[in-house]
Amino acid sequence: MNLALLFDEDFLSPDRVLLRGRRLEHLNTVLKACAGDRIPVGRVNGAMGHGDVLRLTDSEAELQVNLNQKAPAPLPLTLILAMPRPKMFRRVLQTCASLGVKDIWLINSYKVEKSFWQTPWLSEDNLRENLTLGLEQAKDTAMPRVHIRKLFKPFVEDELPALLVGKRALVAHPGMATPCPTHLSEPAALCIGPEGGFTDYEVGKLEEAGCQSVHLGPRILRVETAVPVLVSRLYDGCL
Ligand code: SAH
Repeated sequence: MNLALLFDEDFLSPDRVLLRGRRLEHLNTVLKACAGDRIPVGRVNGAMGHGDVLRLTDSEAELQVNLNQKAPAPLPLTLILAMPRPKMFRRVLQTCASLGVKDIWLINSYKVEKSFWQTPWLSEDNLRENLTLGLEQAKDTAMPRVHIRKLFKPFVEDELPALLVGKRALVAHPGMATPCPTHLSEPAALCIGPEGGFTDYEVGKLEEAGCQSVHLGPRILRVETAVPVLVSRLYDGCL
C-alpha cells in the first residue's frame, strides 16, 4: 500500500478520516506509523495528497488529510479479457488497476470453465477490494469499471462493435502474422484470451467485429504475464 485509498464512508469531515480494518492494520504492522507521521492518501475517483496521523490505536486511526494533487492519467485502453481462472483472476485484476486500465470487460469464451464464473472474487465487494489493492500499490485513485458478459456471441455481435468505435481494436493471439503494435497514443481495445486461448471461431468473430489479430512473438505467455506485457508494449511505460 503506497497510498491509502479513502472512501466516502471514511470521512468524518472534509479533512478528517477514520481508518479501520486492512488499512489500519497496514499502518500498524507494515508502516509502523505513529501519531505525527505523514502518509500518502487519495480519495477514490478524486485527488491525492497526504494524511497526518492524529491518533492511532489498535481499533482506528484518525488522519487529517490534505488532497491537492491530481491522480495519474488513465490509460486509454479498454481491456476485454476472457474470464481467467479464479486463482489468477485476483492478481490480474490488481495488475490491471496498477497499470492504469480503467475499463475491463470480462467475457466468456469456449475455453473458460463454467465454474470460473462462480468465484466469490466476482462479488461487488471483492472486485472493489482487489481493484483498491491495485490502485493503492500504484498510487492512483480512479476506480476501474468492470463489466461482466457471460455470453460470448451476443457480446461480440451486439456490443463489441460500438465499443470499438474510435479505437485501435486488437486481439492478441499467438501465431498471427502481425506483431502487436507499440507506442500507441490513441485509444485502443485489446482482447486477451483464456489459458487455452481463443478458438479459431472466436478469433474470426472478434475480427468480424473489427479487431485486428496480433502476436507477441513465439513465446506463449500466461494470461497474468500477457496482460502487463501487452499493456506496456502498447503504451510507452504506461505513462
Ligand atoms: N494455448 C493458447 C495460449 C493461451 S495464452 C494458444 O496457443 O492460443 C493466453 C492468452 O494470452 C492468449 O489467448 C493471448 O490473448 C495472450 N497471449 C499469450 N502469449 C501470446 C503471444 N505470444 N502472442 C499473442 N498473444 C499471446
